[in-house]
This record gives sequence, structure tokens and C-alpha cells, in this order.
Amino acid sequence: MSILVTGSAGYIGSHACQRLLRDGHRVVGLDNLFRGHQAPMDLLSEAHPDRFSFVHADVGDTDRVLATLDEHQVDTVMHFGALAYVGESVEDPLWYYRNNIAMGIGLLDACDQAQNGRGISRFIFSSSCATYGDPPEGMIPVPEHCPQAPTSPYGYTKLHFEHILKDYATKRRRADNPIALTMLRYFNVAGSDRTGMLGEDHTPETHLVPVGIEAATGKRDSLSIFGTDYPTPDGTCVRDYVHVEDLVDAHTRAMDRVEIGQVQAFNVGIGKGYSVREILDSIKRVSGNDFIIHETDRRAGDAIALYNDPSKIQSELGWRAEITDIDEIVSTAYAWLRTHPEGYGS
Ligand code: UDP
Repeated sequence: MSILVTGSAGYIGSHACQRLLRDGHRVVGLDNLFRGHQAPMDLLSEAHPDRFSFVHADVGDTDRVLATLDEHQVDTVMHFGALAYVGESVEDPLWYYRNNIAMGIGLLDACDQAQNGRGISRFIFSSSCATYGDPPEGMIPVPEHCPQAPTSPYGYTKLHFEHILKDYATKRRRADNPIALTMLRYFNVAGSDRTGMLGEDHTPETHLVPVGIEAATGKRDSLSIFGTDYPTPDGTCVRDYVHVEDLVDAHTRAMDRVEIGQVQAFNVGIGKGYSVREILDSIKRVSGNDFIIHETDRRAGDAIALYNDPSKIQSELGWRAEITDIDEIVSTAYAWLRTHPEGYGS
């Protein structure tokens, strides 16, 4: 297949490109390099010169995206390109809405006009468990039919874009030209490619696992736990951490198994929750290093506890996380960050 991966130079997008290329597909990566990196694009181009190309553009640049879709006869789009920090979205919601929704519509316009006006055949969207907000009682672990009530602008951008996509899929069905639409609601993603080629490199880095590893390796003096008074067993937030390669595997399954005409949403998470303290303990075990932990106020927009009920994705896509041991997930992240203390700039 010929696949456009938006956000290809980012953490998850680059891992998706790598997996698709390994599976023998043709892949076009598209990224504005605002937070993504040229280095993984170069590494993938060197490894797969005949089947990978990279376009430096905004997802909302409809003309460039359309030209790219047509040039490469793309039939499938995986849309990873977005801003993805909960705290930042609370600070600057309009930026998040403009980037994640308005630019996304620009991408959809191109998808609609591609293939001589017939439109692309498959669209897979990176949605988020942040669309659920704080699930009501009895809804944790979280199933896909849980009410979606985000607690942050970031979560709303993902939820609104799900609605936009569903309306677009309806239009295509009514025009007798259906599309396969999959929305994958990720829980927390961690770890890196086990060959050591790709990793997680964010500026600023705010995610718990890499921040903890930076503390363990001395790159930062300490870290803060944002809130220790949550109604959870140890007072800190609980999340479900899925390994990035398992997450990417869910995308390939969605591409292969969701049929044209279907609109599907799946949660992607291992089905077990870990508290912030448990993650930090894991980082200490894996690194063998202790580090200073401050306990500070809650971070705006954080949900209390979120972990997945993986029943639907297991039964309908046959997906199951291969790596479920938290130390194993953390050790893949640790291996890359130890050898790349400055990320791709190392
Ligand atoms: N967290 C924390 N300290 C940090 C970074 C994150 O206590 O330096 C907490 C955060 O409040 C949340 C959990 O760790 O409860 C996971 O946060 P992360 O930013 O990794 O992912 P998110 O859940 O926001 O997608």
C-alpha cells in the first residue's frame, strides 16, 4: 500500500513509518518539523531509499498535501501530526484548536480531492483517552462506549476531530464512495524501537517516563510529582502505558482489518494502570539510580485515573500488547535516552 504518515518526524509517527516500511509498504512522511526531527527522516530514507520519502510541510497546507497524495498515489492516511501537551493546551487553547482542528480540516480537504476526486480509501486518526476526561463510576477500565467528556482543550481537539471525521465518513457513504475510518484512542505511550534506531525526543520534554529517565541519568536535578492528593491508592494519577511498537501494531491491524464503509473507534492501552509513583519506582529499578522527587500541586487538565478495557480491540482487531511489563517498557526508553542524552542531536 501507499501510505501518508502525518507527523512522521515525531515520536509515534516515526515509529509508524519504520513499521510500515518493514512490512513492505511505500510511505510518505509529512511533517512541519515544528517539534519533529529531520534525523529520523534521514535514517528512514537511508534504510529504505526506494520506498520512503519525506515532505516538509504543514498538514493544513491542502495544496501541498494534495500534490503529495497524487504524486505517490496514496490510498491510506495515518494522521499523527498534532500538538499533544495537556498543560500547554490549557495555557493556549486557541493555538491547539487552530493546529489540531483547523489544520486537520485542511488535510481532510486534500484527502477528499485526491484520487481524481474520489478521495482516499482509509484514514486512521490518532485520538486519545483524553477524550474521556474523568470517566464516571464503573467505567474504569475504560471501554469505548464510555461517555467522552474531556478535561482539557487538548482532549477537546481530539474529540471534535473525531466528530468531524465521522461526518466526513457519512458524506462519503451517502455519495456511494465509502471510506474506512478508524479512530485509535491512545492511552499513554512510552518506550522506543527495540533496534535502538528511533526514540522519544521532545522539546520541551514533559512526559513522565522520559522526564524520570532524565532525572535518573543526571540530565535534570529532580522532578516533580504533580499532585499527591488524588483519590487513588497512593494519591498520584494512574495511567495505562503502552509500548510505542505495540501502539503502531494497532495501526497496521486497523489498516488491514477495518473494512471500507466501516467507522470504528478502538482504545489502545495494555489494560493495566500504573500510578506516577509506580512509574518512578520502575525507572529507579531499571536505571539503578535514585533521584530527587518533589511533590507539587496538581497539573491543570490532568484526569485522575485512566486505564483501558482492551476487550474490543482484542476481539475485533486481534490486538494484544506484546510488552506488558512496565520495567520492560521503561528499559527500551532508558536504552535510547542513555545513548542519546541530547536526543537526535546526540
Ligand atoms: N507527571 C508528573 N510529573 C512530570 C510529568 C508528568 O507527575 O514531570 C504526571 C502527570 O501529572 C500525569 C502522569 O504523570 O498524571 C502522566 O503524564 P504525561 O505528561 O506523561 O502524560 P499525559 O497523561 O498527560 O498524556
